[in-house]
Amino acid sequence: MSTPRTDLSQTLRRLDGSSYSAYKQLKGLWRLGEVELVLDRVQSDPYAPPSLARVRLPLRSTGIPSGLIASKDRRVAAGDFLTRQFSRAARELGPRGGKDSGGISIQSTGQEILERSSVLVPDPAAADAHVEVRCEIALPAAGRRIKGHAAHRLLTEVLPGVVERALRYENLDARALQAHVTSHLDAQHLREQLPQRGLVAFVADSAVLPRASGHRDEPLARGAVPFETPPELRVELELEDGSTVSGMGIPEGVTVVVGGGYHGKSTLLQALERGVYSHVPGDGRERVVTLPSAMSVRAEDGRAVSHTDVSPFINNLPTGADTRDFSTSNASGSTSQAAATVEAVEAQAAVLLLDEDTCATNLMVRDERMRAMVPGEREPITPFVDRVGALYTERGVSSILVTGGSGAFLDVADLVVAMDAYRAVDVTDRARQVVRDFPRSEDMRPAASFGEIRPHVPGGAPEAPGTVPAERGATPSGPGAAGHDASRSGPRHGAAQRGGRDKPARARGLDTIQWGREDVDLSALSQLVDPSQTEAIARLLEEVERTADGRTPLTELVDAALERVVRDGLDALAHHRGHPGHLALPRAQDVVAAYHRVRR
Ligand code: ADP
Ligand code: MG
Repeated sequence: MSTPRTDLSQTLRRLDGSSYSAYKQLKGLWRLGEVELVLDRVQSDPYAPPSLARVRLPLRSTGIPSGLIASKDRRVAAGDFLTRQFSRAARELGPRGGKDSGGISIQSTGQEILERSSVLVPDPAAADAHVEVRCEIALPAAGRRIKGHAAHRLLTEVLPGVVERALRYENLDARALQAHVTSHLDAQHLREQLPQRGLVAFVADSAVLPRASGHRDEPLARGAVPFETPPELRVELELEDGSTVSGMGIPEGVTVVVGGGYHGKSTLLQALERGVYSHVPGDGRERVVTLPSAMSVRAEDGRAVSHTDVSPFINNLPTGADTRDFSTSNASGSTSQAAATVEAVEAQAAVLLLDEDTCATNLMVRDERMRAMVPGEREPITPFVDRVGALYTERGVSSILVTGGSGAFLDVADLVVAMDAYRAVDVTDRARQVVRDFPRSEDMRPAASFGEIRPHVPGGAPEAPGTVPAERGATPSGPGAAGHDASRSGPRHGAAQRGGRDKPARARGLDTIQWGREDVDLSALSQLVDPSQTEAIARLLEEVERTADGRTPLTELVDAALERVVRDGLDALAHHRGHPGHLALPRAQDVVAAYHRVRR
């Protein structure tokens, strides 16, 4: 990088009253005392997206103790904390005059602690270690003219003030920072202990599970009944500092959560969904953890399915369609859930989380009367209840499912937990008695095997976008493609089907990725929690597309792309798109699930 310019004050005064586009002169590196300001992209008019900036401060000037950020997990938590501090300071110190007076903003945050690209906390052992903040700066305007004095104040007073407040250890709430880091380390440590204890999830005593409302993820402020562990399920796990915490351990296998309506079943399951992430102190779910690969599965009628092997659940469709290579642009409730289940298993989810509230009943169970009405050979569906046992015994995939309406799962449950007025009770023994008293008939036998599933193999990458003749794109060629046996390697899709994607994929909020002419709907991925994760997924999808060779399974492509991110940081996904500050790390399972929702 070139030598920093130091005359920002003079430059801004000189620009006062000029046409807005003259702000472009600000692009580049500036020195403001100890702080380095890099303006990577300058907006061309006041209504364009804000300008992109990076602010760098030597680590030693921040005063942040090296020990606090000595590991990767610690730096992730510290970066998440500093992002929140920067955001708050920018709000408190920033101009209040609306759009014309400009402002400073940064990646938004929620209740989860995530690896983010908004604030990079360096390894203190690294040479020339800097803390780097990536933020957006709306440059002030009067009509379409530059408001030089306001800009002067924003960049030379407000911004350094925000940096002072948000990055200098002496100005930070040191205890809050420590608590933030500890919360993440404890949760990671708890998660690591699950496999060796034969558990898939853990809910600590006195955790607060209910949320403020259906749309607000903060804890319920009043009247929340803290979690209490049933004695039979009590386990003690260790926290980072060696002390112990007791709570409910959910073992591997099939766990069924029963209970009357409105007794807290879905709330428990949702806390487990989010247990793949660490939470901010005060959230209530800091010590609720689930295996990181746990995948929530639901029905999603209308979604597209593309070359998914749904044969463990669906066979003999009246159309004669091959359910080992099933595609539709408009899946039904049951086929969408069958696809989501198989896709999660393929993505190596160790636990499936299902809630009857969002499941397709006909995929979950079929009762005796219906089996008598519709003979087996006329019914394409093998219900989940017949597969869930083998899913664990054969493939090691556990399930936690919430059901209030159907007793069918009691036969196959290893553990039955009842939620009774927000209290968990181990009712496994009672469930066994019920099963003895009301046995299923002979023809309702769980399947002995889950069945094989064929892996997804994305087709070869197209050459430069828009240059591939349609008839060429579909066949992979070149070394390795010869002798390719489609029946063994599984379904493939050709590059020719990916027309119109010459624009980069990008997130539109949490639930949508815009890719070419298509809006990919991710609203069913309930474990996607941050729009910055969605943005990272958009870029990972492009990378999958770029590296697909018609031979490598989807999950391997996703793992390879994510390995690079783990090694080189989220900036590995920034490409040349200027600002890398709007990324947060997604899980491989969610990337795979997003890929499957692209219409082909
Ligand atoms: P179910 O799935 O059993 O029908 P929900 O989990 O949807 O029940 O919970 C019903 C209501 O009770 C929700 O408004 C939820 O926020 C609230 N709730 C859940 N758990 C608790 C709790 N531990 N303390 C207080 N309220 C709770
Ligand atoms: Mg419910």
